[in-house]
Amino acid sequence: MCGIVGAVGFVSPKDYVFNGLKMLDYRGYDSAGVAYFNNGIQIFKDVGSVEHLLSIVPETIDTNIMIGHTRWATHGAPTKLNTHPHLSFHEKICLVHNGVIENFKELRGFLTGKGYRFYGETDTEIIANLLEYYYLEKGEIIEAIKTIMTLVKGSYAFAFFTSEDKNTLYVIKKASPLVIGLGEGFNLIASDASPMIEHTNKFIELDDLEFGIVTKDKVAIYNKKGEQIKKDTISKDVELISHDLKGYPHYMIKEIEEIPQTVRRLMAKYYQDDKYQFDPNLIKDLEESDHIIFIACGTSYHAGLVGGRYFEKYDKSTSRFIASEWAFHPTYPGKKPFIIMISQSGETADLIHCLKIIKEHNLKNLIITNTGGSTLDRNAMYSLLLYSGIEVSVASTKAYVAQVTLLAMLAAALSNDTKLIDDLTDSLDVIYDIQDHYKPLIMKVADEIKDKKNLFYLGRSFDYFLSLEASLKLKEISYIHSEAIPGGELKHGPIALIEKGIPVIVFITDPDTAASMRGNIEEVKSRGAKVYTIATKSLSKPEDTIMVEDYAYYLSSVAVSSIAFYLAYYVALAKGLNVDKPRNLAKSVTVE
Ligand code: GLU
Repeated sequence: MCGIVGAVGFVSPKDYVFNGLKMLDYRGYDSAGVAYFNNGIQIFKDVGSVEHLLSIVPETIDTNIMIGHTRWATHGAPTKLNTHPHLSFHEKICLVHNGVIENFKELRGFLTGKGYRFYGETDTEIIANLLEYYYLEKGEIIEAIKTIMTLVKGSYAFAFFTSEDKNTLYVIKKASPLVIGLGEGFNLIASDASPMIEHTNKFIELDDLEFGIVTKDKVAIYNKKGEQIKKDTISKDVELISHDLKGYPHYMIKEIEEIPQTVRRLMAKYYQDDKYQFDPNLIKDLEESDHIIFIACGTSYHAGLVGGRYFEKYDKSTSRFIASEWAFHPTYPGKKPFIIMISQSGETADLIHCLKIIKEHNLKNLIITNTGGSTLDRNAMYSLLLYSGIEVSVASTKAYVAQVTLLAMLAAALSNDTKLIDDLTDSLDVIYDIQDHYKPLIMKVADEIKDKKNLFYLGRSFDYFLSLEASLKLKEISYIHSEAIPGGELKHGPIALIEKGIPVIVFITDPDTAASMRGNIEEVKSRGAKVYTIATKSLSKPEDTIMVEDYAYYLSSVAVSSIAFYLAYYVALAKGLNVDKPRNLAKSVTVE
């Protein structure tokens, strides 16, 4: 998912656009570009980072209008030519785009027949030209916009300006986000409100098939018929969209430390006046369903594993699937299945694929996401937001805990089990305790394991689900190969890999499985493993590494996941790695 920013009439457009692009870079990108008007359209773009782009643009840019873009290539390789902004054949339209044009080949064929030639392979370049073609034919930009909206299939947020008007920015939206920020004597645009919040807290969110004409003093919004419409302005909770590092060296550690407030916020949102506050229709549909299917990817899938168990606690039968697996072999156990999808970004392509299938089969469904306005939020039957605030670090931490917390609350709502709220409150104390007392110890462990090539996490039941996430987190940002093994599975294969000095990190927080886990520790120790044990006090032994206060064992992923997150963070830090932006990974995975 790329990022779009733009400004008209702003005093320092270069600062806004570059800061904005940096703020949106958590969405993932491979190339970046800007365009502005100064003696004609000026475009600077290249493969690589926003910092690199900054190094190739002029020091001072005198302009009234500017658009910027970070591209996550979908059509055509990440090359300089394919990088946005794109200029049309007759150099009349300069455009950036977020999304995918499904019928771009057909449109390209049409334009080729009209004598148009293209320099790159993107779907986006075709739209810059299509707009130009109709602009020249109709002599009216609004007419051209209306026409292309009827022709173009797919998803788009477009922002563009013309070579003939350096005072006007145009935006068009369908299924990709675009927000307009209203200023005094200037107006801004961006993919989300976060880059604009420093300058304004008045926004207009475009809905699908709307377009906007933005000058420094005026914003006019139109529907697809070209009729001007009235839109409400909204303001945002600054705390939730702030990118301020608040003195932390990295987003990851800031976000780990925000876990308690994330859990509290969810409790406040979805539990009021001693009652769970969920849409009664959602609860009814869940109650009436005879099977709940969880579908997600990566970290969200791990949250789904925990969530499934919660629903089973209230006698629901469940199954859990990885989205990219389910999409190719969809199964719907039960007579009345209900699907719960989980995606931090709400833009996960694998899950969007699943939602298409879910809709084709008319299955009831819910998305749990941190991103209001995202594709899944807009298209699922029900949506529950995580209210975790922006998570910038690629490695998800607070959003994972929020997913688990929300799933626990939703499951508990089915039988109005309010004990969960006390248990969640108790687990907050455990997290604070970890934050206050255990970081030096975790750093010490990080230092001991940082040069290892392989590592194992062990746990059973809820501690196993947590181990899966702990292991993924370590892999993602420290590049140490790590596997999570259910304690009982060790003897069925993985024990062959245990050798002298290999670190094995063990969670023992569940009274029912503690004795078996102690047995597993002996098995790996006797083969030379270096064991680090995280245990609750009542289950601990003096030789354990970290002993935390007791909590309701089913909340491991809430109460003690911070330990695993800190560990991954400190290992990556000790190895001098880019903690917030690990190699080969993007925050929202918008390709299948
Ligand atoms: N589909 C367009 C491209 O490949 C835009 C991708 C994006 O959203 O960054 O250039």
